Amino acid sequence: MWHPYAAVPSHAPAHVVSRADGVRLTLADGRELVDGMSSWWAAIHGYNHPRLNRALTDQLQDMAHVMFGGLTHEPAVRLARTLADMTGLPRVFLADSGSVAVEVAIKMAFQFTGRSRLLTVRGGYHGDTFGAMAVCDPVNGMHHLFSGALPRHVFADLPPAEFDEAYLAHLAETVAAHAGELAAIIVEPVVQGAGGMRFYHPAYLRGLRELADEHGVLLIADEIATGFGRTGELFGCDHAGIRPDIMCLGKALTGGYMSLAATLCTERVAAGIGVLMHGPTFMGNPLATAVAGASLDLLAERPWREEVKRIEAGLTEGLAEAAAAPGVKDVRVLGAIGVVETHEPVDVRRVQDVVMGHGVWLRPFNRLIYTMPPYSIGDDLDRITTAMTAAARSLGRGPGRSGT
Ligand SMILES: *Cc1c(COP(=O)(O)O)cnc(C)c1O
Repeated sequence: MWHPYAAVPSHAPAHVVSRADGVRLTLADGRELVDGMSSWWAAIHGYNHPRLNRALTDQLQDMAHVMFGGLTHEPAVRLARTLADMTGLPRVFLADSGSVAVEVAIKMAFQFTGRSRLLTVRGGYHGDTFGAMAVCDPVNGMHHLFSGALPRHVFADLPPAEFDEAYLAHLAETVAAHAGELAAIIVEPVVQGAGGMRFYHPAYLRGLRELADEHGVLLIADEIATGFGRTGELFGCDHAGIRPDIMCLGKALTGGYMSLAATLCTERVAAGIGVLMHGPTFMGNPLATAVAGASLDLLAERPWREEVKRIEAGLTEGLAEAAAAPGVKDVRVLGAIGVVETHEPVDVRRVQDVVMGHGVWLRPFNRLIYTMPPYSIGDDLDRITTAMTAAARSLGRGPGRSGT
């Protein structure tokens, strides 16, 4: 069986998990690990949450699934209303995964404008399907194997962390040079996730919003990783005070329980599209939409802003010493995201051995040892930062091996 970005048979055996509860994973051999990954940004409330469990078991009594073609149901309707209220984007398409939500966003932009070229920035990640791969970083985006099969979109330079007038000018030039052929600009707002865990200045997002309006191009915000409070604001776009024309949501949408994503857009875009040519078999699945609705209720009730602020302070303090380690290039924190960037690609197994020795689960890739813990992490955060600092100090003893 394949695991993500792996060979069969795999070079490194996977650890067997027998239970997940709160912020802890229990392995079949009895070891307990504090989860620093939230199962890839998703499990924001922690595992085995009674409210989310109940939403699923209650929904199960009524129906697990019905087709969404010509039929509808309360959990999907309620979720769409909540998402529209949260985002200010009133039209909602429910997709099965983040990559599919990005495909749908691209289709929306192509159908609305009648054009079929996109502009993005280097260093991005938008998913593993073909439309999404074409806007991932063309060099480090994991998909260079397929470059011959992908449409050629327009790439602006990597957005810098700090404010730089010259970069805004570069964006303006790049958009202007291709304006006639562009359907949309697509970016991850403020945080570039799987493309390199980089943070950029929100002024660039404001700049892109203005440029999109000026040139009659749509702005797609891929909030799949940044959505639902992770960066300290409800959405990444909130750092810039802008609203996109199209927004993609996923990952934390169901609190990490099931695969579900959504693509939202303005009334203007929806009206311009007419019939949207997409309709997955399991669209609007009742179990997934019910648990997503419960997860968003829980988010509205929990003091996530304070929790994320506390995690931000804990990560900043707890990772400060890692910056001094010789193998470390940069340490950065934004909201509930903590990143240790190394000079050389890390040996994933070796780093995992170190952090698991400290009772922590992390999945480093390339030159990045990073964490985005559940918002409910509490004092266990210390354990994560201690493990990351120990991993940073263990580097530089011999050549590393790259991994994803
Ligand atoms: C994870 C991710 C995706 C893809 O989501 P999947 O559910 O893995 O298909 C797309 N965009 C961003 C920004 C992501 O972080």
